[in-house]
Amino acid sequence: MLISDYEQGRCLLARLDHGAEIIRQITLLAEEKRVEAGAFCAIGALSQAELAYYDQASAEYRKITVEGPVELVYASGNISLRDGRPFVHAHGALADSKGGVLGGHLVSGVVFAAEVFLLELLGPPLNREHDPITGLYLWSGA
Ligand code: ZN
Repeated sequence: MLISDYEQGRCLLARLDHGAEIIRQITLLAEEKRVEAGAFCAIGALSQAELAYYDQASAEYRKITVEGPVELVYASGNISLRDGRPFVHAHGALADSKGGVLGGHLVSGVVFAAEVFLLELLGPPLNREHDPITGLYLWSGA
């Protein structure tokens, strides 16, 4: 297990732009506020979205296209550094008009309306590097 100690930094609230791509918007938020490590959650609604399921056997993401509009019941994730730039890793639960929920790795989504709570974490650099065992870009100890 890799453990790093962080202190709480700023608590940021952001209303995302209608029509914008959600992962890009959260990345921009991190870049503009110079957040290099953090945790976030978001709620709102998306007009369309793409989730993914990581196939552990083939080490590939399988895309799940979600025809909107859907509620963004909950998205949670973190911000760390990949290649020296803020990188957003998000998972989400999306609900249709009957309340049925689909969930997974949140690849992208077009914002209808969304509100984000971002907690900045202050401490050592949190870098992602390719992990040969999982095929994923995981936090590294360096
Ligand atoms: Zn993921």
